[in-house]
Amino acid sequence: MQLQFFVRSPTHQTLTVTLESTQTLTLRHLKSSLLPNPQSISSFYFALNGKPFSDSTLLPTPEITHLSTLSLLPCISGGGGDGGATGAESRDCYLKMYSEKKPDKIDPNEKRLGQWLNCALSYEPLREPCVIDKLGNIFNKEALVEALLGKKSPKEFRHIKGLKDMINIKLSMIPGKQSDAADGAMFQCPITGLEFNGKYKFFALKNCGHIVSAKALKEVKSSACLVCHKEFVESDKMVINGSEEEVAALREKMEEEKVKTTMEKKKKRGIDVVDGKKDFGKLEGNEKLENGKKSSNGGVKKFRALDLAPANATKEVYASIFTSSKKSDFKETYMCRSLPLGRN
Ligand SMILES: [Zn+2]
Repeated sequence: MQLQFFVRSPTHQTLTVTLESTQTLTLRHLKSSLLPNPQSISSFYFALNGKPFSDSTLLPTPEITHLSTLSLLPCISGGGGDGGATGAESRDCYLKMYSEKKPDKIDPNEKRLGQWLNCALSYEPLREPCVIDKLGNIFNKEALVEALLGKKSPKEFRHIKGLKDMINIKLSMIPGKQSDAADGAMFQCPITGLEFNGKYKFFALKNCGHIVSAKALKEVKSSACLVCHKEFVESDKMVINGSEEEVAALREKMEEEKVKTTMEKKKKRGIDVVDGKKDFGKLEGNEKLENGKKSSNGGVKKFRALDLAPANATKEVYASIFTSSKKSDFKETYMCRSLPLGRN
């Protein structure tokens, strides 16, 4: 009995091959009848309707029958199939290989995703209004304020002491995304549309609070916010959920600012902080003294009606309009009440 096969070559020609059916007829026989060079045999494989078959497949099979059309396809080196794997193997072994997850290990992808989708404090999904701290952590403002009021903020967020340590941010919602959707990113870059999901770097602009992707800032060279056009400088850019190094740099900056503000406060109180000693500066001290002297002499002059009297006015009369500047001779007795303008 003879078996006839149609074989589509890699060059899309259809060849007809007729083979004598034997007990041991395999696809390898079919292949070698087409490829006279034995070296090229391992470089091709047969497939039927896209399904690959190994060379050792005995013919005929329920699928490969008389007059079947097979495709002869090249094995792509380096892309699988070059080690003799035709893809005809069961996928089970791969599935098993990947299903064995170590239970005590947190998937870094999940952790990273969590940082971008959830409040760093409450772990609840981010919802506006949101704030960031000076290290680039992102919070639901409500959760953070509540924790501050209840003095319940954990150690890692002790650097947030009040509203002055928070930066209000404006996130752009992905259009059509439900605010209570439990999965995936909710926000995006308003310029590039890149999702706020941890795959891309994002910056907060400190002055206006807009959150834009690094890509947008890089592509559109501008010293103004791409959303609201408010001017910003390099130091106004704060990286969100940055790398360890980036967070360390932000922490350093935060500490520097803290030192600066306490110095300024001390200066305002008149304490010379240049050499760190509590020394009342001469200038401030002298000024205070002078002020003291002045006030003992009358200091800021009290208003006296007499000083403003018109030139031709009788001083006493003029003064009497306003106050009891003229000392009255009348004395109140139990019988009569003294009347100021001397009319009695
Ligand atoms: Zn802006």
